[in-house]
Parts: sequence; C-alpha cells; structure tokens
Amino acid sequence: MTSSFLLSRSFLSLTLRPPSSSSSCASISMANLTTTNAKARLRGIVFDMDGTLTVPVIDFAAMYRTVLGEDEYKRIKAESPTGIDILHHIESWSPDKQQKAYEIIADYEQQGIDKLQIMPGVVELCGFLDSKKIKRGLITRNVKKAIDIFHQRFEVIFSPALGREFRPYKPNPDPLLHICSAWDIQPNEVMMVGDSLKDDIACGKGAGAFTCLLDETGRYGPDDFSVSGLLPDFKVDSLSKIQNILETNFDLNP
Ligand SMILES: [Mg+2]
Repeated sequence: MTSSFLLSRSFLSLTLRPPSSSSSCASISMANLTTTNAKARLRGIVFDMDGTLTVPVIDFAAMYRTVLGEDEYKRIKAESPTGIDILHHIESWSPDKQQKAYEIIADYEQQGIDKLQIMPGVVELCGFLDSKKIKRGLITRNVKKAIDIFHQRFEVIFSPALGREFRPYKPNPDPLLHICSAWDIQPNEVMMVGDSLKDDIACGKGAGAFTCLLDETGRYGPDDFSVSGLLPDFKVDSLSKIQNILETNFDLNP
C-alpha cells in the first residue's frame, strides 16, 4: 500500500482511479498518492454515528418504504443510485404528511435505539486518539436524543456532537465546518469518517476535510465513486484499520 502523502486536495478530488478490487486489501488509499516529504497534519476526526460508531440496526429500506409507499419508493430509488435522502424528500411535504413521516422515522429510530450496540473498534480507536490528543466529534442525521443515549450507554464522549436539529444537516458541509470552527482547527487537518458515501463523504469533501469511508460489507464499488463523483481518500472495512492509516499517512503531533 502506498504509504506516503499527499498531493493537493484539488488533485485528489480529480483522481478517480478505481480502487483495488482485491477483498484481501482491507484498508486502502483511494487516491493516487505520490511521494512528498511532508505528511499532512491531522488534529481532529469527526464520526458519523449510525452504522459507523454503532452497529447498523435500522432497516432503512423498510423505513423508506413505509414513509414513501411502495410505488414512490421504487420511483425515487430508481432516480437515486447513491441512495435515498428521506429527510430531503419530506421537507417539501405538507405539515400533516410531514408529521406522519417523522413519526414513522422516529419509530424506526426508536427500534434502533433499543437494539443499539457500539461498533467493534470504537473504544480502541478513541483510546489511540486520546493518546495523540486528537479531538473527536460526531455528526448524525439522527436526533440529538439518540446521541445522548449513545453517550450515556457507552461512555465514549464525542464533542461537539450534532444531530439533525443542526441545520443544514449532512451532506451539507456546514455541521463539519461548525465543528472545525469550535475546535479552532482548519478543515484540512480534520478527517470525516462514515459509512455513507452520499452523506458522510460528501460532507467531508464539501468542507475540505480528509475522508474515510467505512464499508464493512463491500457495498461500494468503483462505479459508485465515479457516478457520484465522490472518491474518499481512504476506505476501510473495519474501524480497527483506521489507526494504521493515521500512523502511516499523517503527522499526528499536536
Ligand atoms: Mg451512517
């Protein structure tokens, strides 16, 4: 694996080289990296919550079907190859219809909370970040209440931690820029880590941060990156691979 870093961000965003398709290559640099002397500094990591810090338990497809109805679900799904943005669709609805949709979503999210489990590797990764004094924040499209439950249940704290009450939410880069500003750290010294290409990677790229896609099941392939125009800087199949990426590619001195 290429171990050296980094060209300019504009070069990275233009580099759409398909990643290695070898499944044995568990964590890979997605961009075409070329040797430079200086490693980029990294001072903060912002994580997505559902499916990244927690094991995915929300059945999003079932949620979308219930909210949209089968026909509308199929129509929107066909138009949205990278995934459905359910919150976005709901926003243009009448207040009555909107409230019903939010109730359905809240039901699914409550089921998610009931079955909530922390993702393997979170505690170890946070321990490593603490040892390097690297800050950690959280951005989710879930509600703030779910973040509070996550914090209480697992006692690993992320700060700032923004729910969808913070507008505009991901994939807009604003929540990430807000966290960078609260930390007084430039976005190019921060990494966004998440399991959604269209939300997390888009948000990170929009803010000018490094991005790392967590893809446990290999659901994303080269076509997804070229169709969306969103190529993450790194892709891992487990959070436990991130420490090595950080040590290899970044200057972690405070
Ligand atoms: Mg997620």
